[in-house]
Amino acid sequence: MKYFRLKHGVVHRLTQGQRLISLEDFQDPTSIQDADEGMVILLTDSDKSFQAQALVGRQNKGFAWVFSMNESLWWSAELIDHWLTQALEKRHRLLACSDTNAFRLFNGEGDGLGGVTIDYYDHFIQINWYSRGAYLYKEWWYQALMNQTRLSIQGIYETKRFELADKEIAMALVSGQAHPEDFFVKEAGRYYRVQLGEDWMTGLFLDQRQVRQFVQDQSDQMTVLNLFSYTGAFTVAAAQGGASRTVSVDVANRSLALTQANLAANHLDTIQDQHKIRIMDVFDYLQYAKRKELQFDMLICDPPSFARTKERTFSALSDYRQLAADLFTLTRPGGMCILSTNHSAYLKETFIEEMNEAGQLSGSKVHLIQTFGLPEDFPSTADKTSQYLKVLVYYRSE
Ligand code: SAH
Repeated sequence: MKYFRLKHGVVHRLTQGQRLISLEDFQDPTSIQDADEGMVILLTDSDKSFQAQALVGRQNKGFAWVFSMNESLWWSAELIDHWLTQALEKRHRLLACSDTNAFRLFNGEGDGLGGVTIDYYDHFIQINWYSRGAYLYKEWWYQALMNQTRLSIQGIYETKRFELADKEIAMALVSGQAHPEDFFVKEAGRYYRVQLGEDWMTGLFLDQRQVRQFVQDQSDQMTVLNLFSYTGAFTVAAAQGGASRTVSVDVANRSLALTQANLAANHLDTIQDQHKIRIMDVFDYLQYAKRKELQFDMLICDPPSFARTKERTFSALSDYRQLAADLFTLTRPGGMCILSTNHSAYLKETFIEEMNEAGQLSGSKVHLIQTFGLPEDFPSTADKTSQYLKVLVYYRSE
């Protein structure tokens, strides 16, 4: 095992709860830069005293993830088993819940080790690998999952989100059987279709569960506009909550069939045209809505951090303010506008500040009445990228 010295001040970040180490954090980056993926390294302070153990796994800006501040802990299959057992204990409420069977089982650094997340979909598992270093130990993780007999796992899928070698495949079923073709999971009694091993996105973003519940609880008798609607997960929540009418807008053709399937699975497709699905660019829809002077009681806007369509590009960091100003105009006085971003570089304080400015820009009076972050099954650390989800609920009074 090798010792590597950290720069002065980095240890302080670790004691503050951060876990991600980058190459610049080392006193002599050249001494470590060629380290093998998956290598366990010992980190010391500038006075050479032991501080932490980390696993080398290059991803984005990161180089290694700290997993222990204890020198005598052994990197082993047992450690992974222990983390998973702890993660399950933390989620005992969700595991015992009879009307929800899809949630995050292991959330990277928040549950012990960065670079790997595990999602649970009704006895099927999807493991997401963010570095080759973490991936090298995959067999330990599969075994640890199979050891958790209470999960009764039927199949394990994985996605690799790091640079792939030639002919290496990005996603696959790696153990057990495939899930049924029409596979629906439950969330608070709502049914959602998911597909594992086909795309980075499974059909349901598990981190928005609390916000979907909020939408369901608030939407009775409301007209609802869901922008960047994907599979219509928010639309189903609004419709289930008694929305009188919904419009879902997404530019991707796949959204039509996927949203229809989700509405049908919840028997919400019985009245013709009550739930409209528009396959078009959100920005074109907004122009149309402005021209027609449409207004809605509830707006939900959950865009990707970056998006490029034929006509334009959208970047949350630079374009959200103008978008929100347009959305506030479309919000009926007495209604609410829900603005979400999962861009980790868009800090919560900045997001709030800019959305408040958007309120002024729109000339309407809006008030921030509630915020949401990540739910209980997405525990985070003090690392900047860890608390990525920010959802703001604005009430428009006039
Ligand atoms: N809100 C969704 C997730 C959104 S994922 C949910 O809760 O499940 C982002 C979606 O934005 C994708 O489906 C993508 O097709 C869509 N998208 C990206 N740019 C767009 C644009 N300019 N207009 C409409 N949809 C867009």
